[in-house]
Formats: sequence, structure tokens, C-alpha cells
Amino acid sequence: MPKLQRYVQKIRRYKNKLKRLISRIGISYSEEFELIDEIPVKLLFPCHLGILFYGASIDTLFEKIKVHLNQTFDSFFFDIRNLGEFNFTNELFSKGVKKEYKDMKKSSDVIKMHPTNKFYQILINKRNEENLGMILSLTDLPIYSSSDDNILFLFGETHLKHRCSVVSTLKLKEYFPERRRINDQFEERVFKEIIHEVGHMIIGSDHCQESGCVMRFSNDVHNIDNKSLDLCEKCKTKLLKIRNNHNF
Ligand SMILES: [Zn+2]
Ligand SMILES: [Zn+2]
Repeated sequence: MPKLQRYVQKIRRYKNKLKRLISRIGISYSEEFELIDEIPVKLLFPCHLGILFYGASIDTLFEKIKVHLNQTFDSFFFDIRNLGEFNFTNELFSKGVKKEYKDMKKSSDVIKMHPTNKFYQILINKRNEENLGMILSLTDLPIYSSSDDNILFLFGETHLKHRCSVVSTLKLKEYFPERRRINDQFEERVFKEIIHEVGHMIIGSDHCQESGCVMRFSNDVHNIDNKSLDLCEKCKTKLLKIRNNHNF
């Protein structure tokens, strides 16, 4: 009899575990997909970086983005390429889409969010096709994290293993008139978030605790506005170490 009870308990624990797993996965799991990357990535520096755009004329920012990335990560890239705009097929566009209340339930407006994996797969394919070391996408679509779908309205995310990042401009558009001209404010946030994600691809997943460092984690646009475009001394030392390890 005790044996049977233990067995029942075991089943119960398993059931609860499964329940937790299902609630964490959320509604879009069945539509999502595993990332496929044929070529094992062994990244050597310097490398080629490509930037792919999706959305309303944000590709006009490319030249400025390039200047900022070269300033922060000088000599880490042979070149930074504008890969232009890409398009989703209709089928892919609706894949994994999750509806969420805009402004976190403060209004009844619903917004359609896209999983980061969808971007990663397009980026992986393009990265392999173009022989790039790493690749980033800038989009105006709202994104949520495929690894944790409780994380909504991401500014950006990086998949370290696959060397790709996605940055969404949607939440970077909040405007505070008392501070800056609207365009300057928006563009500066875009540059910071792109530098931040490229920083992850080079330095790794850790966030920096230094106030003002671009590698500090940002919860909202105020956090972004309060940090600089630069790496702090500690993060610069990390770059130097990587540079020394790769002999360049
Ligand atoms: Zn980060
Ligand atoms: Zn730092």
C-alpha cells in the first residue's frame, strides 16, 4: 500500500509540474517553432555584422547606427552591412502572434505581438547566407520573448548561441517634450539599445551595474534616457580582453 501512495504522490507532483509548465508557456506555444541553424557558429573576431530592417523607413538610420557601433566597438567589425528590408510571408507573419492590451491594460486597445524566435530564424538564415559573424534586426513591430512569454514589449533581445539580436522601436517612441527634441530622443534610444544588444553578442549575457553604462539593464524608457551611449571602464576592459584573446 505505501508503494501505491508513493506512486500517486509522484503522479501528482508530475501533474503540477506539467500545469506550471503549460501556464508559463502561454497561448502561442503550439504555433512556435524550434530554431534551425545548420552551421555551427564558431565566432572569430573581427567579424562581419549585418543589420536587417523591418518597418516604416527605419532603415534611414543605418548610417548613424554604423557610426555609433564603430565608435563603441572599433575594430571588432570588418564591416557593418545594411541588409535592407525584409518581408514576412503571410503565413510566417501570423505565426506565434499574441494579442495583448496596449499600455498594460490601462486602455482597451489590443496590440499584436510577435515572438523573438520568428526574427531569430530569419536572422539565422540570413547570417548563414551572407557569411556574417553576427546579425541584428531593427523593427517597429512589438515583440515578446520566445524564451519567456511573460516578458512583453521588449526593447530588444539577443540569442547568444545563434549570434543574433532583435531591437523593437515601438516602445522607444514615448515622448517627453520637456527633455529633448522628439527625433533626437527617439534616435538616441535606438542607438543605445542597438549598442546594448551588440554588446551582449560580444561580451555575453551579463548586465552591468554601473550607472550610465550602456550595458545596464533598462526596464523602461526613463532607464534608457538615463544611461549613456558608452560602455563604462569595466566593460571596456572586457572588450580589451576579448581583443587580446583574438589577437587583433
Ligand atoms: Zn540586456
Ligand atoms: Zn559597464
